[in-house]
Amino acid sequence: MTDTPPIDGDAIAANLARIKARIAAACERAGRDPADVTLVAVSKTHPAEAVRAALAAGQAVFGENRVQEAAAKFPALRAAHPALRLHLIGGLQTNKARDAVRVADVIESLDRPRLAEAIADAIRREGRTPELLVQVNVGDEPQKSGVSRAEAPAFLRACGEQHGLTVSGLMCIPPESEDPTPHFRSLAALAADHGLKILSMGMSGDFEAAIAAGATQVRVGSAVFGTRSAR
Ligand SMILES: *Cc1c(COP(=O)(O)O)cnc(C)c1O
Repeated sequence: MTDTPPIDGDAIAANLARIKARIAAACERAGRDPADVTLVAVSKTHPAEAVRAALAAGQAVFGENRVQEAAAKFPALRAAHPALRLHLIGGLQTNKARDAVRVADVIESLDRPRLAEAIADAIRREGRTPELLVQVNVGDEPQKSGVSRAEAPAFLRACGEQHGLTVSGLMCIPPESEDPTPHFRSLAALAADHGLKILSMGMSGDFEAAIAAGATQVRVGSAVFGTRSAR
């Protein structure tokens, strides 16, 4: 066990203000309205107290990548802040689909038929319908979640026709070592082809490039909450 550093609420508020200013500037450069870009503050590995500091600074949209961590942290926060919205952004195991549907407002990692089936079943059982984004493995990296770019059109069709799911948009994490812009553009083109409005792309290191390519949601973790300690 390592000591967790104390939460600096002022630093989190200042970081949020800085990120929002950078989002606004990136929108200005791209001729876009900042109201069309949602900041998802990625709070994974950071304690509930850090999320509370962000909520106090006016941030209402959060991202977590593990269902168990989200389920441990968020129900109490949501009870105190009804406007809170939680996005699940990590690879999702089929056997966690029901917990995911229970805790999330948006699931960004729909990427295979068995998971689509499990989520559809969970929606029926829970009577709760999170917004769904399909994750696309734009760099075809074997270690990453996401449907391949080539299989995405057939998968999108199957989500609706076979599983009765409404997909609202696409999400991607480009390869770390490459220029992300071609990958962002490729995801934007795929979304446009399928009439999908939501594009979740861009993280702390590349959200401005993602906004230039059309991102409607950026997922920013370390630039808001600080570096994550290894777990
Ligand atoms: C952790 C994570 C982020 C945030 O990454 P930062 O580089 O800390 O901004 C964004 N998206 C996904 C899917 C993540 O797992």
